[in-house]
Amino acid sequence: MTTSKLLFLSLFTILGLTLTACGSKLEPHYSTWDTNPDNGSDSDTPTDSDTATETNSDTGTDTGIELSFDVMDGGYVVAGPWHGYLDTWASGDDSTITPEGFSDALADADICVEGVIGDMPDWSGTALVTMTINEDEARTEVYSWAPEDVTNEGIYIDVSNPGGTELRVQIESGASKWCAVIKETGGTVILWEDFNQACWNNGGNYYAGEPIDHVGVLMPGHNTDDRPYSYCIDEMYPITGYEPVIDTEVDTGDPIDTDRIPTDWNVGFVGEHGMLQAQGGNLVDADGNLVVLRGMSLFWSLWGGQFFNKETVDWLATDWNTNVIRAPLGISGEIQGYLGLPTLEREKVETVVNAAIEAGIYVIIDWHDHNAADHPYDARAFFEVMAQTYGDYPNVIYEIWNEPLPEHDWSGTIKPYADFVIEGIREHDPDNLIVVGTPSWDQQVADPILDPIDDVNVAYVMHFYVGQHTGTLRSRTDSAREAGHTVFITEWGIWEGGYIMPEDPDANEWDGEVDEEKLLEWLDWADENKLSMCMWSANDKDEWSAILKPGASWTGEWAEEDLTTTGTYMRDVFNSYDYDAMAAQ
Ligand code: MG
Repeated sequence: MTTSKLLFLSLFTILGLTLTACGSKLEPHYSTWDTNPDNGSDSDTPTDSDTATETNSDTGTDTGIELSFDVMDGGYVVAGPWHGYLDTWASGDDSTITPEGFSDALADADICVEGVIGDMPDWSGTALVTMTINEDEARTEVYSWAPEDVTNEGIYIDVSNPGGTELRVQIESGASKWCAVIKETGGTVILWEDFNQACWNNGGNYYAGEPIDHVGVLMPGHNTDDRPYSYCIDEMYPITGYEPVIDTEVDTGDPIDTDRIPTDWNVGFVGEHGMLQAQGGNLVDADGNLVVLRGMSLFWSLWGGQFFNKETVDWLATDWNTNVIRAPLGISGEIQGYLGLPTLEREKVETVVNAAIEAGIYVIIDWHDHNAADHPYDARAFFEVMAQTYGDYPNVIYEIWNEPLPEHDWSGTIKPYADFVIEGIREHDPDNLIVVGTPSWDQQVADPILDPIDDVNVAYVMHFYVGQHTGTLRSRTDSAREAGHTVFITEWGIWEGGYIMPEDPDANEWDGEVDEEKLLEWLDWADENKLSMCMWSANDKDEWSAILKPGASWTGEWAEEDLTTTGTYMRDVFNSYDYDAMAAQ
């Protein structure tokens, strides 16, 4: 994979890349982002891409890490203030783990395990390497240990994971357990405050500094499949005084092939309306007239990329009468995603943008990442490339963070991130519409009222799912708009609860009927308020919200039998729209 970097890369200082924070709570550090650094050695680097790629060897930021994970005879470990014996466990029917303990281990032994976790219907199968955290070599008694500060202290964990499976750090206090998913191999810091009793969805209680007696690395099993695994703990110890280092290294992929971009943008719906402007709660066109956009969102590019093509865009624009499409750039994935394969993923989005320009519809370039603030430099660099390339096309809308999570506070995290990314966009594109996500999966759309973004053309994002969300979300949206904020619903859909289902418990959504009453509550409200929306999703995944059944063509031309119940219903709805009349009413 080529890792060429564009000229503007020299704007981003390379601060030291040995560590990135695993958690998402980096709020206190955002003020330290340096958008135009002059930090000595890098400042004289010429702004050419050949030398810019050399600057990432410069590390040395103080991470507070001077400890080690020392294995003694008998599997006794000293790791900073921690000291205790290692042990292994495998739970679940037919689960295995080798070795069965480390009591035979010699000094400096590799701490590696392998085996299979048998499937357990209740997901209870696990493999675990654990150590007592405060135990003397005579094994007289296990004491506990607690961090002094859960916000600025954490655990340094380095695992090798040839099995490639999901691993978690687990800490225990008697019967209580908290875990954190290890997002990176090769060494990472997980802050204590990021440990959760249900780390797979962070739906449990967060760890608050309770005394702990065990720490280890756990591999979760599955409910229907056996899971083979093999992994090693290379380093594991607590650290203090940790300053998270934001990863400033960016790779925007190969140069964009601008020959693919249509030169004639002045066509179709966009040709009639020109550039969009957020104004007093709604979108207006280049003449200042209200405009309403309705269309489909594609699925994450890394999993739904087969639909990122001109034929699909054309079909949605013509057969489905849509005037906007959303292209979600999948950011992180186990092995795929923009951060790993920037050229591949970015080109999928380019394909959709180019097709939208040619079809004369609007297009949302969506940074589809719930943890965008973990990668602010990547996001900014990506959007700078997009703004340089497409900033003169009125079709283009930038969505800079899809669905921030509940822990992402508006003023503390999202707005500083948005300011940082928008500053980059505006260096290249002074005017196109930028839409900004709001906390809790784009549901706290009123949060920015007291602390709005200072920009010439910004709208705020709300997402809803029929069957899941209630009128509260509509009220919040009304409040935001009454405060003069324009709201763009870049994602809505119909989920379980939005259908009237037959008795069969195994029924798919296309076996049921759309619950019209629930759906129309939302659509009528959206029409009344002339809101612009994209529906999730133009994809064939076997899930509630998809408009296509598995196996539908990847290139449009969908027959009636290719459409789910949702697809059939919504194609009619889109075709009932007379956009100019909707805006004018
Ligand atoms: Mg522009």
